[in-house]
Amino acid sequence: MRVSELEEYISPFSVKILEDRGIRELFPPQKEVIELGLFSRKNFVISIPTASGKTLIAELAMVREIMEGGKCLYIVPLRALASEKFEEFSIWEKIGIKTGYSVGDYESKDEWLGECDIIITTSEKADSFLRNSASWIKKISCIVVDEIHLIDSFKRGPVLEILIAKMRKINPDIRIIGLSATIPNSEEIAGWLDAELYTSEWRPTELYEGVYLRNRLELFHNGECRVKRIDGGLDALIAECLEDGGQVLVFDSTRRNAESTAVKISKITKKFVGDEVDEIANAVLEENDGDMSKKLSECIKKGSAFHHAGLLNSQRKTVEDAFKSNLIKVLVATPTLSAGVNLPARRVIIKSYHRFEPNLGNVPIKVLEYKQMAGRAGRPGLDPVGEAIVIVRSSKEKEKVIQRFIHGTPEDIESKLKVEKHLRFHILSIISEGFAKDFRSLSDFFSLTFFFYQNGIAPDYEIKRVLNQLENWGFITQENLGFVNLAGETGGGGLAPTELGKLVSKLYIDPLTGFIFYDTLEKFDDLSEVAILHTLCRTPDMETLYIRKYDDWVEELADKFRNELTYFPSELSTEYDWFLSEFKTAMCLYEWISEVDEDLVCSRYNISPGDLRRITETAEWLIYSFRRIANFLDHPVQSELVKLESRIKYGIKDELIDLIEVKGIGRARARKLYNYGIRSKEDLLENRAKVSELIGKKWAERIIGEITGEKDFS
Ligand code: ADP
Repeated sequence: MRVSELEEYISPFSVKILEDRGIRELFPPQKEVIELGLFSRKNFVISIPTASGKTLIAELAMVREIMEGGKCLYIVPLRALASEKFEEFSIWEKIGIKTGYSVGDYESKDEWLGECDIIITTSEKADSFLRNSASWIKKISCIVVDEIHLIDSFKRGPVLEILIAKMRKINPDIRIIGLSATIPNSEEIAGWLDAELYTSEWRPTELYEGVYLRNRLELFHNGECRVKRIDGGLDALIAECLEDGGQVLVFDSTRRNAESTAVKISKITKKFVGDEVDEIANAVLEENDGDMSKKLSECIKKGSAFHHAGLLNSQRKTVEDAFKSNLIKVLVATPTLSAGVNLPARRVIIKSYHRFEPNLGNVPIKVLEYKQMAGRAGRPGLDPVGEAIVIVRSSKEKEKVIQRFIHGTPEDIESKLKVEKHLRFHILSIISEGFAKDFRSLSDFFSLTFFFYQNGIAPDYEIKRVLNQLENWGFITQENLGFVNLAGETGGGGLAPTELGKLVSKLYIDPLTGFIFYDTLEKFDDLSEVAILHTLCRTPDMETLYIRKYDDWVEELADKFRNELTYFPSELSTEYDWFLSEFKTAMCLYEWISEVDEDLVCSRYNISPGDLRRITETAEWLIYSFRRIANFLDHPVQSELVKLESRIKYGIKDELIDLIEVKGIGRARARKLYNYGIRSKEDLLENRAKVSELIGKKWAERIIGEITGEKDFS
């Protein structure tokens, strides 16, 4: 089908925009979805492989919806993808369609988004907008959920289900378009959403999937097997592809393995790059130049790179962009990347089909994860075919891999909503936002979830337990819960949020976190810095650090702070190990706000800069919530919390707070200036020459300009 045939649905101007983008002919799945009624207002679940053009399908549906006066919400699976989609959709501005995105702080409404026709955000942020009563969200007439199969995720799936249920409750006519990877029970998702299901295995490039054992590569495609001899293991598999002008994506099990593989293969990649990579190698050192960053930079200079959760966001983006533009030839990633950004490569090599899970060690990946990794093989329009190769070590393993992964089907996806942590988090919000005023209506609300669709019942027993817990914590009130009516049914009791419960819901924290904050504030008038940091780390919303074999110092240090801490379990109790891990995390934050060098903190706590950044960002959000609850109670610790919030944000001691407020002055520059005696905005203005000498002319001009408002220094 030619794009020009769409004129009657989306206007000649819109067609022109597509043509200018180089899209003239629709891919077969796009054409078939249109024939199934994409331009009607039917709900759709579209389950097709990666790179087969799902985004364009969503764009066409949204353009049509907006032309008819609607407003669209586009849910992305990762924060980092919001800006990418925003750039992609901004071409529609030419016909007046305004796009906006927000992934920032919780407890905000971003009312400016009301002017946008397409709003891009994550499921958590969209749920937070609902909790904070953003007025525009009620006007949404169409919601697109990218990677809807993530409903299966233990961590994030429940938010997606509840968000969809809430949106349908607000507007029963809302149109839902779910975009999914190919999964066996996609008809269940479609059934839940009363949607038309479209599935297809079509891909823009052919995919060959294979195994590599003792120099022998077997590649399967359309029931046939091609055999090829390639001597020299991983190195040879990479070299062959590069010599032919391709790029390679390697998956390895752990961060450490990904890094060492990237270093090893840089010997091969180096002859495929010149000095065009130097700029990228320098860019990844801009924000941090510790050991990991140096290693990454060295790899990039030779044309390879690694990609894992320990990288800073800026480094990840630099590496992704450089790989997309074919500057970096080989990227070695941990399995996390399989569900993330779109980084296709001609050859995907799965060096290990295991992933590292805390407390479990190395576990085999799911078939769906394998399919997503393999699906990255082949850049549409650039590579003749894509090849996904698993490296195996024995004939037995080879057979297992062929059966399980290459010829296997992915697992069914399953709702994870019944987990108590998720239930309490969502039930508090359902009550706070007025979706349920008694037990019956709460249970009815759950009939809108995927959990209910799959199981045929609401988790009433668990709901009751959670209600009692929320009541005990002071977040809701219940009346007549034990009431039995004439039909012998129990329930029907009224449910109402307390003011504190509403606040906790809006803050988007686990109710248990809210309770820990409330309880600590109720019990203690004075809290030391360490006690506050430890309180943040005790909450289920904080990612805590592991205690390792050589971490005896944590116990010794905890003992020193024994009298300051608000919680210190017995050494013999089961909670003690958790406590040590929480305390270790608090100490990591303490060093951060005491201005210990970032790289020293990373090496002492055995983490990467990306981990430290995540810990400090979570702590910043939690201390904000802690402060809001302290405000609510008018607690004396409020002003201390305000200061600590800035200190966590910037990693500074108290005395630098004034300087850090000036844009352009970071942790290191503030310290340099302060030590010289420049301690306020006035000092900066009075000592311009010295400022310039201390931090360089360019920065000095920028900073002085920030204060005075002068932007032109020429
Ligand atoms: P998916 O979301 O299914 O993974 P995308 O929507 O990102 O895939 O599409 C993959 C690539 O194919 C994008 O670069 C997109 O611009 C391009 N594309 C989509 N549809 C067409 C088409 N009809 N003709 C040419 N290119 C297309």
